[in-house]
Parts: sequence; structure tokens; C-alpha cells
Amino acid sequence: MPILPGKTIGILGGGQLGRMFAIAARRMGYRVHAFDPTNDCPTGQVADHEVNAAYDDIRAAERFARDVDVVTFEFENVPAETLAAIERIRPVHPSPHVLDTCRHRLHEKDFLGGNGFPVADYRAVRNVDELSRAVDELGAPVILKSADYGYDGKGQVRIDRTENLDIAWSTMGRPLGVTEKVVPFDKEISVICARTSTGETSCFEPGENVHVRGILDTTSVPAAISTKTRAAAIDLAIAIAKSLQVVGLLAVEMFVVGDTLVVNELAPRPHNSGHFSFDACVTSQFEQQLRAVCGLPLGDPALLSPVAMANLLGDLWQISEPDWPRALAVDPRVKLHLYGKQQALLGRKMGHLTAIAQTSSEARKLVLRARESLA
Ligand code: AMP
Repeated sequence: MPILPGKTIGILGGGQLGRMFAIAARRMGYRVHAFDPTNDCPTGQVADHEVNAAYDDIRAAERFARDVDVVTFEFENVPAETLAAIERIRPVHPSPHVLDTCRHRLHEKDFLGGNGFPVADYRAVRNVDELSRAVDELGAPVILKSADYGYDGKGQVRIDRTENLDIAWSTMGRPLGVTEKVVPFDKEISVICARTSTGETSCFEPGENVHVRGILDTTSVPAAISTKTRAAAIDLAIAIAKSLQVVGLLAVEMFVVGDTLVVNELAPRPHNSGHFSFDACVTSQFEQQLRAVCGLPLGDPALLSPVAMANLLGDLWQISEPDWPRALAVDPRVKLHLYGKQQALLGRKMGHLTAIAQTSSEARKLVLRARESLA
């Protein structure tokens, strides 16, 4: 039975992904309740109701679940016990077992490798001795990543050869890590795939991503890749979403190496690299998540125009409030999205710009020019 407009969606996590989801949900006539430890969170600002409690407050999570019809999430590190308590009361999409696989690098790599999906060669490491063995076996350069609580390049250390492994281990900072071979990629791309409980799937156009210091900087769509690579990337994302039985969205980040693809990371939720869809697609990734989670037919993800997105980090606020009119004056096709965050910390995602143009490289030049004009 689909969950129809007028019903209430509960979202765990109150960041920008939840905010844009809430905008899409309210546009379609749903009510939205947001759960986040912090008052006046980006999602709470546009939701009908905001619940502020710690993620391990099971009682609060149960009360939250009783007041909604279905639960989804935008934040991956909700404790398993909380998710289990919520799932006893209301459906949670994607299911907590999908989340368990995707938020833990070792589970994720074991799942991908075990099902024949291409991943960089890796080893699980629990201490400096195991790290040393992994570096010997894989051959430098490698990247040591924390198995859990890693995002935006946090908990990651590149080891080229001469690094002190004790320092690398303590910099990574968690009891379990994954050491993986550095992939000499030509490009990074991502595909966002939606899947419903009846097995219908639909992918957005692959985006080409540029990361700076481990954080996504820009996405350009369509990606400058061959027709064959584009088709292979979409097929790969669909195959992974099917294998995981995702109901909702799955973002698949990949490296392009010549003609081949290597999967880097999975995220079972809307993704920063899919923000372009809000301004440039028939259906946005947020509306698609809503449709999948509510059991409605998926929307058309078709790209209406080449587009690019540039993130706005807190760094831009360090001297003064960015000059918004100047950025918007660069071109009327430039769009500004701000997330309503009060504190502009270094590296914190505060908003993004998008622009449509005749080609994705022209669109990228536009958003970069607009961003430069902010300072
Ligand atoms: P991650 O948090 O795993 O998505 O890593 C952040 C960024 O670091 C990626 O988007 C890549 O730019 C880079 N990176 C991560 N893992 C590798 C790898 N095995 N080889 C090359 N670059 C990597």
C-alpha cells in the first residue's frame, strides 16, 4: 500500500540532505518530522515538526516513530539499536541492514568484492603490524581509511612509502581500518540509482566529480565519459542497488580507469553529487527518494540541461558574509542554495551553487566564476 500525500514522513538526521528532502516532500503535500540532536537544524527549519534528542535516546526515537507513517534517513550514523527500535514500530527505508553495509567500509568492501563488483584491492587492519603487512602485500601507495565514522575524507591517511606507520595509524584514529590500493583514476563519477519495493529502478545521469582535500568540490553533468562507460556505470549502479535490495536511493561513487570502473563508496541516501538534479532534472533525487520510500511510481530522472554544481564551504565566510548579489550577477542561470546553518566552520558544507549552460564544462566555468566572485 503506498503512503499517500497527507501522510507524515519521519527523517532521521537534520542536515541539508534532509532539508532538500523535506522541501520535495512538502511540495507533494506530505508532512515531515525531523529527528536531530540540535535545535533549529537545516531540516527542522522546513519540516512541520522537529524532534531534538540524542540518536541513542531510544524512548525519544520510539515516540518519533509513532507519530509518523514511514521513516527514512539522511544521516548514516544512527545507532543500530535506535534503528531496530524504530523498525519495530514503522517501516524504515532503506532498511537498516542496507545502512549497516554501506556505513562500514569493511562491510561495504566485503559485500562489493563478495558479489563480484569491482573494488580496489584492500585489507582489514586492526593495528600497526597489520597495517605494515597490508602495505607490504598491496604495495604503496595505499590509503588507510577508518572502517566507520568516515566521511568527506575524514579518518583517511595516504601512505606513499616512507611514512611513519605509527603516526599514520594514530591519525586514522579508529580501532579498525581498511587499507586500500590507490587507484590511478582518470576521473571520478557517481550514479544515483532509485529502487522501489517492487524492484523498479531508475538512474540519474552520471555526474563527474572533482574532490579537493577529500571533499566534493564540483559535479558536472553529463560527465565527459564514453557512451560505453556511461552505460557500464548505470548498469553497475543498478546491479548493486538490486543486490542490496535498496528501497530508496543508492549513490555509487566510482573511479574511471581507462575503460574500466572501480567502485569507491556507496551511500543509501541522497548524495551531494546529485544536487544538480534539483535544478536540472524532471525529478530531483529528493523527490525520487520520497517516491521510492512511499511506494509511488518513480519520476523521470531525465536531465533537462547540462549543469554543474559547486559546493560552498564555511571557509568562504571566514572574512565576511559572502557577496551573494555579486555571485548571482555573474549569470541569471546561476542558482543559490543555502542550508540555514548558523556556524560557518572551516570545511563545513553551508550551501551550493548550480548553473545550467549549453555544455557541462561551460556550466562548470559559470559556477566557478560565481563562487570566485563571492569572496
Ligand atoms: P572517500 O571518503 O572514500 O570517498 O574518499 C574521498 C576521496 O579520496 C575520493 O573521492 C578520492 O578522490 C580519494 N580516494 C579515496 N580512495 C581512493 C583510492 N583508493 N585511490 C585513489 N583516490 C582515492
